Amino acid sequence: MPAKPLFSIRDLDVEYHTRGGDVRAVESVSFDIRRGEILGLVGESACGKSTMGKALMRLHRKPARITNGQLLFDGRDLMTLTEDEMRFVRGGEIGMVFQDPMTSLNPVQKIIEHLTETIHAHEPNTTNEEAHRRAGELAEKLGIRSERLNEYPHQMSGGMRQRVMISLALALRAKLVIADEPTTSLDVIVEANFLDLLRELRHEFDLTILLITHNIGVVAEICDRVAVMYAAHLVEIGDVRKIFTNPKHPYTRGLLRSVPNIDLDDKDLYKMEGAPPSLLDPPSGCRFHPRCPDRMKICSRKNPVLQKVGSDSQVACWLYSKEGKA
Ligand code: SF4
Repeated sequence: MPAKPLFSIRDLDVEYHTRGGDVRAVESVSFDIRRGEILGLVGESACGKSTMGKALMRLHRKPARITNGQLLFDGRDLMTLTEDEMRFVRGGEIGMVFQDPMTSLNPVQKIIEHLTETIHAHEPNTTNEEAHRRAGELAEKLGIRSERLNEYPHQMSGGMRQRVMISLALALRAKLVIADEPTTSLDVIVEANFLDLLRELRHEFDLTILLITHNIGVVAEICDRVAVMYAAHLVEIGDVRKIFTNPKHPYTRGLLRSVPNIDLDDKDLYKMEGAPPSLLDPPSGCRFHPRCPDRMKICSRKNPVLQKVGSDSQVACWLYSKEGKA
């Protein structure tokens, strides 16, 4: 029997209340994050992936609100916890790494203070000596030299700051790290080092990672499975290798074709037709239908739901259902 998922997200809706009306940035999204995996969450800008990342930790702030859904993390529904209880889940069980760590790190606090304060906040009985010892050991594992622990965040490079963010998650032995575009501000060499580090930490700390990114290359490099979002909906999820070699959803196909490939003779970059829709007034039926080269009559009328295709993949597209072919 397959192991129980670490995190099961069920029927999640997240809305933004705006002057122009309510915008549903995440709609009816359900998927599992399996223990020990690195799951990539991809899609174009404003498809809802970052909103979802924050909502999973209930870190979303007004005007965003979760209007429906369950967040079943390690046996508990996070939606039923109080804000105080959630504070212990954040950092203690789920850590988050953002694109710009400067927004999360206190500019007037040294790195060592960030680490020891985090440990004390969640484990008040830990002595100062023990907190310093753990912080030092962790920093060493993450390639942060001990003398750098006395520096302030602004004295570190982007790559080093990302290491600090991960060390804050690991200081409390988080089971899951949600990393939102963690490599976007890094150059390619630092990015490659950071991805290597994630791979090592995942095994050493038995970590599960949700990697939110628009960078398909990063997903190919490091993820076990990939989930694809389009206009607030999850449209495909499955094994990275299978999806990359045989994408089912026309949007996934378009995304993958848009990535430059030096092995192909045709060096002209493929450009997907059109642009993602406004979520204030999304298209009827399948949200991708105005851009889809395979659209059928049913596509503009009815929204397809995720269904199993093959042994371990799911896709939301009428091309793979009897109803669509009828
Ligand atoms: Fe294209 Fe229809 Fe599939 Fe949507 S449901 S992706 S429009 S074929």
